[in-house]
Amino acid sequence: MEFLKNYIDGSLIAPISGQYLDNINPSTGNIYSQIPRSDDADLQLAVEAAERAFPLWSNCSVTDRSAILLKMAAGIEARMDEFVKAESLDNGKPEKLAAHVDIPRAVSNFHFFATAIEHFASESHYMEQVGINFTTRRPIGIVGCISPWNLPLYLFSWKIAPALAAGNCVIAKPSEITPYTAYLLGQIANDAGLPKGVLNIVHGLGPEIGNAIVAHPQIKAISFTGGTATGQHIARIAAPMFKKMSLELGGKNPTIVFPDVDIEATVKEIFKSSFSNQGQICLCGSRIFVHQKIYDAFKQAFVDWVASAKVSYPSDPKAQLGAVVSKSHMEKILGYIDLAQEEGGRILTGGSRIILEAPYHEGYFVQPTVIEGLSNECRTNQEEIFGPVVTLLPFDDESEVVKMANGTKYGLAASVWTKDLNVAHRMADQLDMGIVWVNSWLIRDLRTPFGGMKDSGVGREGGWEALRFFTEPKNIFIKYA
Ligand code: NDP
Repeated sequence: MEFLKNYIDGSLIAPISGQYLDNINPSTGNIYSQIPRSDDADLQLAVEAAERAFPLWSNCSVTDRSAILLKMAAGIEARMDEFVKAESLDNGKPEKLAAHVDIPRAVSNFHFFATAIEHFASESHYMEQVGINFTTRRPIGIVGCISPWNLPLYLFSWKIAPALAAGNCVIAKPSEITPYTAYLLGQIANDAGLPKGVLNIVHGLGPEIGNAIVAHPQIKAISFTGGTATGQHIARIAAPMFKKMSLELGGKNPTIVFPDVDIEATVKEIFKSSFSNQGQICLCGSRIFVHQKIYDAFKQAFVDWVASAKVSYPSDPKAQLGAVVSKSHMEKILGYIDLAQEEGGRILTGGSRIILEAPYHEGYFVQPTVIEGLSNECRTNQEEIFGPVVTLLPFDDESEVVKMANGTKYGLAASVWTKDLNVAHRMADQLDMGIVWVNSWLIRDLRTPFGGMKDSGVGREGGWEALRFFTEPKNIFIKYA
């Protein structure tokens, strides 16, 4: 049994209390490691280490910071196989997915912000005959980064990399359900020569160590990705302390299919936007609106395609879906499938847990599920399920589908499928979402603003947005003599 450690002040150390939590492999249901159950005492060590490190790190040249972050990117890349296996073991996702998406993206996050910081510039505003304003952007100090379990290292590094690049010291907490790659990141940081105390990684429960990070007076900004209810809780603590906050929260994303599409090609893409990572991506489309004219043809092709998908253990190279992340999450998903039927929904394919052969017979595998016959207003179509469950809803015209697509409390992402550029423009303009993809899904350029409207969050990550979030602007005015 491996005991994971916190990474504090450049060392991998046990929690002061000696308390640990079980870490379960979702493909087998077995406990395979122990995670520190960190508390205030561990956090205090991390904060003191970060305070000591801040003067050095915030004043070191951008080139030096960049060089260390590039080494972190290279360090992950050099241990790609180990990271891929660790991510799949912890999360249940197919290794193929971790190898193509999760870990390469973590490498890109470090690479991107290591180079972005070298081009990050502040502004000046000249006032004729009066003087000049110039704005400096200095690091904030110690910042907290809290991330979820669905894309563990991908989202962890998406916060840590810009925070470090901008010159902050970081206290970071991964989800206690998926701590493994965050644990390995501490080793990467040391190997890359990151000065001790600049990055501190504490493991444990959200309501304990996560809450303590949010409430700590020396931690000046919180970058959080997770559920909307947790985001509200964090905002209640952090807002009265006037902390900077970036909250990337839940979604109930629409996928909108117009009648002019090539059905066969579109079905394959919408399969990915619905079920990648077992549907556990905040950007997955879970409400699929299909124009009446092609509803039956699309339904038939989609259901056939979904029914043939292979759900399997992570190391199976043919696995298209793996295990969902935990027993409680599986039960939540199955509960929503029951609810959908109570609400009048018809299951077109899927709908159940899958029991694989030993040693995976206790794993948390759920069939990709397609449901029709529900109104947009019912709970199944309003609440985030965050699993391999989608609904099909017919529509007649643009205004109706815009109303339904916008008709939830969320506003994260949408995808629109049409060959008509005018339709695409009109839809993109009217959808209240932070991100709209046309004829595509999850194509990401790291320079673009990333985040949601309404209850999907506050603020944007990515590109300059992230570097602005992790810096404090100061305007300085000098009057001409
Ligand atoms: P949670 O909100 O439960 O947890 C997210 C993180 O917050 C975890 O590290 C968790 O720790 C921690 N946490 C929990 N409670 C607290 C607290 N009181 N104070 C501080 N931290 C806390 O979300 P999930 O991990 O279940 O992730 C799924 C959610 O994330 C979905 O709603 C999904 O839509 C959203 N998400 C949003 C994205 C976006 O960019 N908009 C991207 C990806 C996911 P622990 O796990 O240890 O409890």
